[in-house]
Amino acid sequence: MAQGCNLCNRNCNVSRNNGKTGFCRETEIVRLARAALHYWEEPCISLSCGSGAVFFTGCSLGCIFCQNAPISSSQVGREVSVPALADIFLSLEQQGAANINLVTPTHFVPSIIRALDLARGKGLALPIVYNTGSYDSVETLRMLEGYVDVYLPDCKFASSSLSAALCHASDYYEKALSAIDEMLRQTGPFVFDPSTSDVPVPKYADLSFFSEHTAMKKGVIVRHLVLPGQVEDSCSILKDLYARYGDQIFISIMNQYTPMRDFSSDPSLDPKLAAALSRKLTTYEYEKVLSFAKKIGITNAFIQAGHTAKESFIPAFDYEGLPDQ
Ligand code: SF4
Repeated sequence: MAQGCNLCNRNCNVSRNNGKTGFCRETEIVRLARAALHYWEEPCISLSCGSGAVFFTGCSLGCIFCQNAPISSSQVGREVSVPALADIFLSLEQQGAANINLVTPTHFVPSIIRALDLARGKGLALPIVYNTGSYDSVETLRMLEGYVDVYLPDCKFASSSLSAALCHASDYYEKALSAIDEMLRQTGPFVFDPSTSDVPVPKYADLSFFSEHTAMKKGVIVRHLVLPGQVEDSCSILKDLYARYGDQIFISIMNQYTPMRDFSSDPSLDPKLAAALSRKLTTYEYEKVLSFAKKIGITNAFIQAGHTAKESFIPAFDYEGLPDQ
């Protein structure tokens, strides 16, 4: 990265190859917190064998309620060379992973592409899943054309005041929608792989995250985590996504928000917002969002069943699967 970094819409323009860091807090040297089989993604991503999740350190979005705060805030991370990253991909394939799942990869895209080229040269055949907060620039996503099979972008907030308060990006929504446009342009409408299971293509409202399912071969699954106190914002997002993409994408409507701290003493937050973020989502709130989704005709959706707001769903960032330093 000889030029300044503009991989995401922060456009920090810093020379990360000189050890400098921008908003994401990372130089251009890849750091990881974990690379292991992961069973808690949508059923068509995890299957019963597990997704090969590679957790990258740092984040270009930095939501204040982040469920993976130890890595997004760069507290946990081990440096990994590009050849070592390629070997990690190959090791996950040998362990039986359904795919390579790149988690929060935006700020390392050039290195990831080099590692994928190396791994492909050594026989890597798994589909690639790109799991992002969706603040990637469109130019960065274009670099990934031909490398990514399934995009797993978040669509977190519609309201600009909400995104300004929660991730310091008042333009989040417009940028996320532009990113999703580009992802869908690359993959086209979703395709499932019938050879992986005889379970029919999933339909809304009879799904849990914990069942075996047909693998998604290519496509886009937009994830929306419903936040406590933000039912209106969630409905607005669902309405816009369905109007814009119809049945070409899947939408994953998530209820697993886990308050990682008490926000009530945060002076930068509106007290009502702070109080809501300090609690879990209620069943009533989640049901309201699901009812709205059904009412407007969404059928291609994953929903979460039962009580998912547990810290136990957050993986241990213990360097599992990484080479020793
Ligand atoms: S990837 Fe990091 S350094 Fe580059 S523009 Fe985004 S936040 Fe800034």
